[in-house]
Amino acid sequence: MVKKSNGMAIQADSDLHQQMVSWRHWLHQHPELMFEEFLSSDFIASVLESHDIEMHRGLATTGIVATVHGANNTDDNRGKAIGLRADMDALPIPEQNQFAHKSRHDGKMHACGHDGHSAMLLGAAVYLKQNNNFRGTVHFIFQPAEEGGGGGKIMVEEGLFERFPCQAVYGMHNWPGLAAGEFAVHDRAVMAAVDKIEISIQGKGGHAAMPEQLVDPILTGAQVIIALQSIVSRNLSPLDSAVISLTMLEAGHASNVMPDELKITGTLRYFYAEEGERIKKRMEKIITNTCEAMGAQGTLKITSGYPATINHPRHAQKCAEAAIQVSSQDAVQRDLPPTMGGEDFSFMLNACEGAYIWIGNGKVPAEEAGSACMLHNTKYDFNDDILPLGASYWIQLVQNELV
Ligand SMILES: [Zn+2]
Ligand SMILES: [Zn+2]
Repeated sequence: MVKKSNGMAIQADSDLHQQMVSWRHWLHQHPELMFEEFLSSDFIASVLESHDIEMHRGLATTGIVATVHGANNTDDNRGKAIGLRADMDALPIPEQNQFAHKSRHDGKMHACGHDGHSAMLLGAAVYLKQNNNFRGTVHFIFQPAEEGGGGGKIMVEEGLFERFPCQAVYGMHNWPGLAAGEFAVHDRAVMAAVDKIEISIQGKGGHAAMPEQLVDPILTGAQVIIALQSIVSRNLSPLDSAVISLTMLEAGHASNVMPDELKITGTLRYFYAEEGERIKKRMEKIITNTCEAMGAQGTLKITSGYPATINHPRHAQKCAEAAIQVSSQDAVQRDLPPTMGGEDFSFMLNACEGAYIWIGNGKVPAEEAGSACMLHNTKYDFNDDILPLGASYWIQLVQNELV
């Protein structure tokens, strides 16, 4: 249980906490995949509407931007505007939980806690609509398709920050393994850039018993795979972080036939663009030259996915201050390492200054079901106890920023 803090605008077990729990459970029961969040979007819109909160719908298909103005705005001085963002989409994972609010949509599940993110942002919107003693404007951004669809990118491309100008934008993700009641705030890198690797090695196939007549793409590929793993260890500073994971090999169909081609697919993760460029150049060189030495031909295709999520230090500091106010100094970790996972809030952070923080979802052995289960697990569940803490953090951030 998250202990009560005097700094929390929404206390545990309050009416608004209970409402957030019921919204979260409804969303959990109705998980929808990228750009198909129609029921979820309608549900969120109905809650906003019932509290008379202004909203705009349709960005990136199912996205919603709700707006609350401060009571202290004047024509001469409307203060500044900030954006708070939650994601709404679920994953194509069959849920194995048996509790009453388990998924009613076969093969789909809120296994990343976006149901909780939406419920916390809704709670903050409802509270701030009723307690708008601030100067400025808050835009509550409910975005679709975080899980691979780049809904954040599309919202930005469709004019999110032109239509709803913000001086800063903030995001929050629950983090299993971090205790309920705690936060983690990174000064700079939080999540990695995610690029897709596709390698093709063209040899010369034929009878597997006559290697002298062939160019073996499998043996060539084996050498390429080993050589590529030298890049992170030998071409980057030991203090920098990057990952090359080659995860799919496709070639051949018979034990006695050498195929013409081997395809290798994988993922490349890094934090800073200059490191990414250096890695890609080395990959290109290793693939081309290793293949040439073996008499084969190699090609590399890299497709950029999500950029790295890099906080602006000044805004990270503001997030940490608000988090401390709703919890305690000891409950806000400033030195957790970032993760090589990806996050499309990066597109918003590349378009507008801001920061992205983690809120602890629970700390018990990772094999156990529920809130301590890692994200994207069939037994994961968002922790309802942290709803008031997360929503109170949003409220505190607004109260600190819009004065
Ligand atoms: Zn996820
Ligand atoms: Zn997520």
